[in-house]
Amino acid sequence: MQQRRAFLKTGAKVAGGVALASMGISTLFADSNNSHRVNAGQDTQGVTLLGDSKIPFKNGDRIPARGYAAFGKEWKFKPYTFTRHPLGENDVLIEILYAGICHSDLHAVRGDHGSPIYPMVPGHEIMGKVVAVGSKVRKFKVGDYAGVGCMVNSCGECEACRASKEQYCTNAKTVFTYNSKDVFHNDENTYGGYSNNIVLSEKFAIKVPKNAQIEKVAPLLCAGITTYSPIMFSKVAKGQKVAVAGVGGLGHMALQYMVALGAEVTCFDIIDKEEACKALGAKEFVNVKSTRFSEFANTFDFIISTIPYEYDINAYRAMLKFGGEMAIVGLPSHADSPKLDSQSLIWQFQNKKLYSSLIGGIKETQEMLDFSVKHGIYPKVEIIKITELDSAYQRVAQGKADFRFVIDMKSLA
Ligand code: NDP
Ligand code: ZN
Repeated sequence: MQQRRAFLKTGAKVAGGVALASMGISTLFADSNNSHRVNAGQDTQGVTLLGDSKIPFKNGDRIPARGYAAFGKEWKFKPYTFTRHPLGENDVLIEILYAGICHSDLHAVRGDHGSPIYPMVPGHEIMGKVVAVGSKVRKFKVGDYAGVGCMVNSCGECEACRASKEQYCTNAKTVFTYNSKDVFHNDENTYGGYSNNIVLSEKFAIKVPKNAQIEKVAPLLCAGITTYSPIMFSKVAKGQKVAVAGVGGLGHMALQYMVALGAEVTCFDIIDKEEACKALGAKEFVNVKSTRFSEFANTFDFIISTIPYEYDINAYRAMLKFGGEMAIVGLPSHADSPKLDSQSLIWQFQNKKLYSSLIGGIKETQEMLDFSVKHGIYPKVEIIKITELDSAYQRVAQGKADFRFVIDMKSLA
C-alpha cells in the first residue's frame, strides 16, 4: 500500500486517490480542482465524479455509461444508457473523446456477418483519456491519452495471444469491442465507442503520445492497423509498384503508409477520387468502371483490397506480378462475398499469393500508432456530432464520406 501511494503521488496531475485494498482498485483524479475529489476513508460513500468527465463512478460497482445505440437493422440511432463492468485491478477506465465510424459498423448493425445483438452501441475506433486505473495498472496513469481498437480482451495464454496476435486467439476468447460476448465478465454483451466511456484491460489499451493530433487518432485504431499489418507482413518497400483497391477509410490509410515506405501506389475505386488520391501521394488513379485494368497486367508487387462489396478478385490477380502478394481485408456481407474456386487458385494464380488479414495484434497496433504519429500519417476526417450518426451512415454507404467520419463525444450532452 505504501508503495502504491508513492506511485500515486508521483503520477502526473494526480491530485488525490483512494486505494481499496479489498478490491485492489485505486481511483485517481486528473483534475486537482475537482470539487468532487474524495479523500482516503470516503471511498465507500457513494458516487464520485471523475475529472472533467463527470462519469459517476462508485468503486466496485458497475460503471454507468451513455451512448447512442441501434435498436434494429436500420441505420437509426437513439440515445441509450447502460452499464459497464466494474474497474478491475488490471483495468483502465477511459473517457471517450472521439470515435470513428468504420464501414464494419454499418455491416454490424445490418447483421451482414452474423447475428447482431440489439441495442448495439458500435464503435471500435476510440480515442480518449484515462480517468481511473486499477491498482495493478502500470502502463497508464490518469490523464494519459489512450486508444482502443477492435478488441478489449483475449485468453493471453494460447500461441496466438503469446505472439500478440490476440485477434486470432486459438481458445476463441477474443472479446471484440462491441456486439461480442465478454467471456471474462459473465458472458455479458460488449458496447463500443459511440459512448462516453469504456473500461478494459490495460493490455488492450494503446498509448497515444501527447503530441498526437487527437481528433484524428481514432481511425488509426482500426483503419490504420488493418492496413498497416498486411503492408508490413508483405514487406512493402521503396521502389515497389503497389495498389489499393477501394480507397475509403481503410484504403486511404493504406495509400499513405505505402507512400511513406517509398512505394509507387496506384489506386482503384468505383467513384472518381483522382484528385484526393493524388493529393495523398498516389501515382495513378483508376476508376474500376473504366477498361484500364489490362494496362496493369503483371505489374504489382502487392495489392490490398478493402472493397466492402462483391468484386472480381481474378481481375486483381491478373495485375499482380509473378510472386506478388494480395491481401484481402474488405469484408463484404456473406451474401456479397467474392467467389473464388480452389482450382483457380492453383491454375491461375501463377505463384502469386492471396491471403486475408484481420485487424492486427496489440503490439503491432502500438507500433502502427507510434509510426503514424512519428511520420504525421493521419486519416482525413470530418468531425460530426453524435446526433448526425444516421446521416453519416447513409453518406458512408453512398460513397460520400470524405474518407472518415469521427464523432466528437462532446456532442453527447
Ligand atoms: P469505406 O466505405 O470507407 O471504403 C470502401 C471503399 O471501397 C469506398 O471508397 C468504396 O467506394 C470503394 N468501393 C466499393 N465498391 C468498389 C469496387 N467494386 N471497386 C473498387 N472500390 C470499391 O469502408 P472502410 O474502408 O471503412 O471498410 C472497408 C471494408 O473493410 C469493409 O467491408 C469493412 O468491414 C472491412 N474491414 C475489415 C477489417 C479487417 O480486419 N479485415 C477491419 C476494418 C474494416 P464507394 O464509397 O463509392 O462505395
Ligand atoms: Zn473497423
